Amino acid sequence: MGIETAYRVIAAIPCASIGSYIGYMAATAERDRYLFGALDSSAKNRVKLQEVNYGFEGQEGVFLTSMDFAVNWIRKSSVWPMTFGLACCAIEMMSMGASRFDIARFGAEVFRPSPRQSDLMVVAGRVSNKMAPVIRRLYDQMPEPKWVISMGACATSGGVFNNYALLQGVNQVIPVDVYVPGCPPRPEQLIYAITLLQEKIQREPRSLLKTLNLG
Ligand code: SF4
Repeated sequence: MGIETAYRVIAAIPCASIGSYIGYMAATAERDRYLFGALDSSAKNRVKLQEVNYGFEGQEGVFLTSMDFAVNWIRKSSVWPMTFGLACCAIEMMSMGASRFDIARFGAEVFRPSPRQSDLMVVAGRVSNKMAPVIRRLYDQMPEPKWVISMGACATSGGVFNNYALLQGVNQVIPVDVYVPGCPPRPEQLIYAITLLQEKIQREPRSLLKTLNLG
């Protein structure tokens, strides 16, 4: 094979690859259109809907998503807080779990008695220097992924207790995801903090790979 022929063969390889790739994309688009129809016409494509519904008459629909979205959605819909309170803020946290405020509406009502079964720590109340290492240990005993809400002025900044006995912010010993202002914060504020945390969980990138220890 002459040098010119060799050049032609080498030049033809990417062209062939691009051509087959474009063909593959076209075939994929055609298959998707066959299965699901165009987005504006899928509601009209009753035969195909019935086909993908395994023969059911009613419209059940099809939901396509990524595994990351599904993992994040499952996690955010079943946050398990640790049963753990430090001061007056804890009373507001308990109210949040009771019937009037009912955090079950947001899937976070299953307070767990052990850090090994929890993925949310709500630091509700002032943190003394004596308590700080205990909080750190509890946090370390929680499995990944885990999140922290700092509830109230005391947990966030020491509040009115600017003295030697209290930690001036729980973020000095553990990382905090959401801060709740106020003294005491209302249960609605804590519910709002949990919804903010849920938004954060939903946006977590590469959750599936991280779950498999690959990311
Ligand atoms: S922020 Fe207010 S209510 Fe909460 S622990 Fe401190 S003093 Fe108590």
